[in-house]
Amino acid sequence: MPTGKDEYNNVFNLLQQHHRWFQKCIPLIASENTPSPAVREAIITDFGNRYAEGWPGERVYAGCRFIDQVEFKCIELMKRLFNAEFVDVRPISGVVANLVLYAAFTEPGDTMMALSIPCGGHITTGKKELGGTAGAVRGLVVEYLPLDYKELNIDVDRAKERISKLAADGRPPKLVMFGASVFPFPHPVKELTETIHAVNGTVGYDAAHVAGLIAGKQFQDPLKEGADVVSLSTHKTFFGPQHGGVLSWDKYSDKIKRATFPGMVSNHHLHAVAGVTIACAEMLEFGKEYTSQIVKNAKALGQALYERGFNVLAEHKGFTKSHVLLIDIIKHGDGGTIEETLEKANIIINRNLLPWDIKEGRHFMHPGGIRLGVSEITRLGMKESEMTEIAEFIRRAIMNKEPLEKVKADVEKFRKDYQKVHYCFENSTEAYKYIKIR
Ligand SMILES: *Cc1c(COP(=O)(O)O)cnc(C)c1O
Repeated sequence: MPTGKDEYNNVFNLLQQHHRWFQKCIPLIASENTPSPAVREAIITDFGNRYAEGWPGERVYAGCRFIDQVEFKCIELMKRLFNAEFVDVRPISGVVANLVLYAAFTEPGDTMMALSIPCGGHITTGKKELGGTAGAVRGLVVEYLPLDYKELNIDVDRAKERISKLAADGRPPKLVMFGASVFPFPHPVKELTETIHAVNGTVGYDAAHVAGLIAGKQFQDPLKEGADVVSLSTHKTFFGPQHGGVLSWDKYSDKIKRATFPGMVSNHHLHAVAGVTIACAEMLEFGKEYTSQIVKNAKALGQALYERGFNVLAEHKGFTKSHVLLIDIIKHGDGGTIEETLEKANIIINRNLLPWDIKEGRHFMHPGGIRLGVSEITRLGMKESEMTEIAEFIRRAIMNKEPLEKVKADVEKFRKDYQKVHYCFENSTEAYKYIKIR
């Protein structure tokens, strides 16, 4: 039997192996990113060992003198970045932020609309039958927003019809959630707000993926376009660490605050709030430059893959206006197999359902698509020319069927030059350096 000390060493060994591996990988998961050393420093502070229930300045706990100042600063900087009247930075993740929205703006049994999962929707907006948060946890009846498959966007006319039909049937949507996990083009918030408000619905917007792009002014401004409330994650296109948040208008502040606490959180991961506050300062300084490079890189990667014969969707619209690309990969295998193949070459991507996959009888484990995101490789300092190199690695592994060990060796060599986090004030510690303080 291994001793406690053996197991202790085993775990640290695994953690260190992970770090060493990620130093050699091309990370293309659209929901992931790497924070600056400054954010990493903030999240190992003593803030992570404290409680601060309630609103800053009105806490239920003592000892919050500095914690309150940081949280107020976080709120202030978020308001600046998102032009929001009201911000709650206590939701500990995007899922919890969505739960806050549901608690504040709906009652169990209400109808909610969102994109289905094959159409890019997230499990948090999923139906009860799928175990989705909206259905299974809040008891909402989820109806789908219609997607135009070619445009990879919500179909405005059909959405209007569906909303009117639901209203005529006596179950108007109480909440319509824009936003998605495959989110290449801005959603028609402006076009649909009036229709939603006319049936007394709340306009929600899930900015988990695009929060950084919104803060960097590279994507639509949902509040300005009519959204009543926005949920977000702080670590996808935003600068991290993993956390959540809600943006809204002053008139909704009381019900959002109450939904968050006592509704959804007790401790709210104060170390993460500290990290997000540092990330906000970085966004203010570097956000525009970073996010405009993200969009350029995503388009360049789409183009380079397309030129090599990959079926990157929405070619007629330049593939994307965000950080994400959706590729129909079925000619070369299924998404699950491709994901595994690329991982052996140290290229980390994820399989993804295509909008028509369920009808084709495909399952999430082996869908027809893959999803690529460029936020993390952009943060590592890569530009358009590196996107061509990455497309070439993917071509060699999938189309040429070169020995994966050979592609992997070249990926590792390529990756050596991108070890630091860019778009931050200080980066003397490398991005994936293992930090030992024992
Ligand atoms: C990632 C994601 C979430 C969940 O965010 P977490 O921070 O991982 O909890 C919610 N909604 C959408 C659309 C997402 O893509």
